Amino acid sequence: MKIPQRGMTRDEVMTALSAAREADHDFRNGRTFGYAYDAGREAERVSKEAYAAFLSENALDPRVYPSLRRFELEVVSMCREHLRGGPEVVGTFTSGGTESCMLAVKTARDYFRATKPEIREPEMILPITAHAAFHKAAHYFDVKIVPVTVDPETFEVDVEAVKAAITESTILLVGSAPSFAHGVIDPIRELGELALERGLLLHVDGCIGAFLLPYVKRLGREVRDFDFSVPGVSSISMDLHKYAYCAKGASVVMVRDKALRQHQIFSCAEWTGYSVVNTTIQSTKSGGPMAAAWATLHHIGDEGYVELARRTMDATDRLVAGIEAIDELYVMGKPAMSLVAFTSDTVDVFHLADEMKLRGWLVGPQLAYGPSKENIHLTIIPTHDATVDAFLADLRAAVEAAKGLPLSPLPEQLRATFASMRPEDIKPEVLQQMLAMAGASGTSLPEREAEINQVMNALPRAIGGRLLAGYLNELFTEQALGS
Ligand SMILES: *Cc1c(COP(=O)(O)O)cnc(C)c1O
Repeated sequence: MKIPQRGMTRDEVMTALSAAREADHDFRNGRTFGYAYDAGREAERVSKEAYAAFLSENALDPRVYPSLRRFELEVVSMCREHLRGGPEVVGTFTSGGTESCMLAVKTARDYFRATKPEIREPEMILPITAHAAFHKAAHYFDVKIVPVTVDPETFEVDVEAVKAAITESTILLVGSAPSFAHGVIDPIRELGELALERGLLLHVDGCIGAFLLPYVKRLGREVRDFDFSVPGVSSISMDLHKYAYCAKGASVVMVRDKALRQHQIFSCAEWTGYSVVNTTIQSTKSGGPMAAAWATLHHIGDEGYVELARRTMDATDRLVAGIEAIDELYVMGKPAMSLVAFTSDTVDVFHLADEMKLRGWLVGPQLAYGPSKENIHLTIIPTHDATVDAFLADLRAAVEAAKGLPLSPLPEQLRATFASMRPEDIKPEVLQQMLAMAGASGTSLPEREAEINQVMNALPRAIGGRLLAGYLNELFTEQALGS
């Protein structure tokens, strides 16, 4: 494709854009259980207008646009109060949860480089329920992951296992509030005690829950402490583009004090251009996300968030009760808020996800890992209060339909073939063949995804990861444009 020789008019461009989104999933209809955080049309409008108003402003240099620094400082200040941090707590507006988590890991690494240079190969102790963003951080910043298991019933990290995993090279402990997969809060208070006792940093990943949990607590529900009121917590990540309903590209990483945050900042004057000094991974960045976040927090307001939390938790209660009432299904662990994983010992959950998709519902299949068997994940939002009953009726029908579907022998065959192979020995051609066998040949995904999920579920994780990377590499080639 070439840049069009003559520019299109505004109308032509807008028509083309509208046409392009025809195949997109409608996330506003309460039938999507992930990806979308919807607080209603008016909130969306405010967000979009604010975003557009500051779209062209650049937060590269905080002195050039005082408006942007102010939005960031005020958003961070609201977040600090929300997380019960004292005035010494500082924070940074980032592009999302991944960036927030990555910065927390980078800060820990550089803090220990400065204070304990004898640590040559820093380690972070990571519950297997912690978000993949920490694996990304470990990969990018060369910090070793020491995985620790979780309780097979509650899916909370085993603090004794964390304790046993600490070595001379440990720099960072991580807990989730809550975990994405099962929606449970790790024992942050115990982790904090351990961090203080051993002189370690503790990051609380509140990306998905830290904003909502204080509201859940205000509804009178039991919520375990996870914020800066807990001694030993050194940083918290909290996404605003999830349960604060801000436009995407909005998260904060909050740090216990300026002295620690100093290690987050990158500066460089060793080149011929302008001096670079950033708190974030991004350098040039639009003012849109921070203006939109500021606008959304002000528009919805504290009372609005309480009401959205009430609707979310009511929908969650009804969904959990409805799922538990289906003989074949059960909820895993005890969700602390609105993230629910459910599974079955008799029905294939990947077929079940396909059957729900056929009925117009987008749910999140999750693969088995450690003590967590394969399951279906639901991220529940306020607009689900109107669709719970329809969802449960279709879920009952989908369970019946899934019961009759056969299980392919392919996953077991592949498991046997690849059990002894090292991921790095698998050639690209073999990955191609595997994708083709699973029905995801070339660049298209099959209408039914159960088989590819079953294959992924059966393969050693490192090999499954390579398979996905190969698939993504194909997906973003020009040859894939047509499909
Ligand atoms: C969503 C999420 C992240 C990553 O956030 P992104 O905004 O998708 O980059 C990290 N941790 C948890 C617990 C999350 O739910």
